[in-house]
Amino acid sequence: MDDNRDDKYEETELEKKDSGTEEKKSDDSGSDYEDVCFICRRPESKAGKMFKLPNNICVCDDCMHKTMDTVSQFDYQGLLNNPNMGDLNGKGFPNISFVNLADLKGDGGIPNKQKPKKKKKSAAEIDIRDIMPPHKIKQKLDEYVVGQEHAKKVMSVAVYNHYKRVATGTMDEIEIEKSNMLMIGPTGCGKTYLVKTLARLLDVPLAIADATSLTEAGYIGDDIESVVSKLLAAADNDVERAEQGIIFIDEIDKIAKKKNTNSRDVSGESVQQGMLKLLEGAEVEVPVGANSKNAMVPLATVNTRNILFICGGAFPDLDEIIKQRLNKKTSIGYSAELKDKYDKEKNILSRVTVEDIRKFGMIPEFIGRLPVIFTLEGLSRDMMVQILKEPRNAILKQYQKLLELDEVELLFNEGALEAIADKAMEKETGARALRAIIEEFMLDIMYEVPKDDNIGRVTITKEYIEGNGGPIIDIRSRSAEHPDRLKVVQQPVSGS
Ligand code: ADP
Repeated sequence: MDDNRDDKYEETELEKKDSGTEEKKSDDSGSDYEDVCFICRRPESKAGKMFKLPNNICVCDDCMHKTMDTVSQFDYQGLLNNPNMGDLNGKGFPNISFVNLADLKGDGGIPNKQKPKKKKKSAAEIDIRDIMPPHKIKQKLDEYVVGQEHAKKVMSVAVYNHYKRVATGTMDEIEIEKSNMLMIGPTGCGKTYLVKTLARLLDVPLAIADATSLTEAGYIGDDIESVVSKLLAAADNDVERAEQGIIFIDEIDKIAKKKNTNSRDVSGESVQQGMLKLLEGAEVEVPVGANSKNAMVPLATVNTRNILFICGGAFPDLDEIIKQRLNKKTSIGYSAELKDKYDKEKNILSRVTVEDIRKFGMIPEFIGRLPVIFTLEGLSRDMMVQILKEPRNAILKQYQKLLELDEVELLFNEGALEAIADKAMEKETGARALRAIIEEFMLDIMYEVPKDDNIGRVTITKEYIEGNGGPIIDIRSRSAEHPDRLKVVQQPVSGS
């Protein structure tokens, strides 16, 4: 796919060459991309003005000077006195190539996807009045995410404050602190989904990274700065857009300090240490259009000061730590008999404190840089049912739309939805299980229905989900006056 994109770029470049507008384009900064030095690969914003050579090759001032220095130190005398040089003697410089000229031919050097975008003069600065207020953000989130009221509220306010901070910059002495977030909740309860929805409705680039793949720089795995590189790619190599984006780091609990290890903890505590400066705000050099730094990849500098970091994790066993703490409190003095008082409390996670997270294995400096901490609840059966049918792009709506294109109506009994939710609850992977379950039994329907034009409506029942019966099929009435009228004929779908 990437090759295609390059081809496209080459094509347009060629077209422009043909029409004679190419020179003008590169001069008038008509292109969205910065020029990149052909020799050292630094972009224009770092290396300064470029010398433009034919074939769209650019060389920066430094490299040009270095090249010239090399030329002036060259032993021409020896060369010129060389009898093998034949007719070059005394006729000026031999054709010395500093850069392999064959490389310079044709494609104009570096493809666009490896070039950072130019900084626009009228930087897209955020106007405070344009920032969506928290209640509007929450309203929008409500359309997609079921339940998690507290999380949605906290996130809306944090995001609002964050972008207010970005908009004001550091104009006066009161600097607003960054509102990086830490979300704690069981798997499949909508952590990633919330962040994705948020980024989409704010129209900011989003990078999702998995903390388990991160290791200290120099070890096998992605180094920590690769998350910024991902964000830059999500922002289309536009550094300014990336600098206002969101980075979501999932499975953050997996980089907790390892207990009882003698070896160097390259994927745990060291990763937390390494992330500190990113979370706070630092200038990082990241490769453009690749995920590792090497000599051939141009680098862009991204400042993470205004990047919003959201970390999420399930933190298994955190509830035990919380219970222990709570029980310790009650086991002092007369209330000692209430020792198992908290064992049955459902939403024990919501009582989490910074101390508990530290005990879990996150270092204090790390937690300190994630000032907004909140929990998400595990999904209940009712929430599962709601997730099936209510969000804007609910799974059921998607299937209904698919069948609507075949002019077939798809209905689900309330009993059927509950049966699906029950099955999903058993799997303990949150809402993620829903899609798998639905796909399993919708397969037959999606296969059989298009076979028969007479089918006008399919109703999924509890019995069908539980494997004790079939769906209700309504045959389209053939009557001439009422071509759309449906006649109920109950029969199982063949093959199910
Ligand atoms: P995790 O908390 O493990 O990151 P995800 O956000 O990836 O879970 O959730 C998996 C899928 O389940 C999402 O893509 C979304 O479709 C669905 N989902 C989970 N929670 C909710 C919710 N509260 N409301 C709507 N859909 C949800």
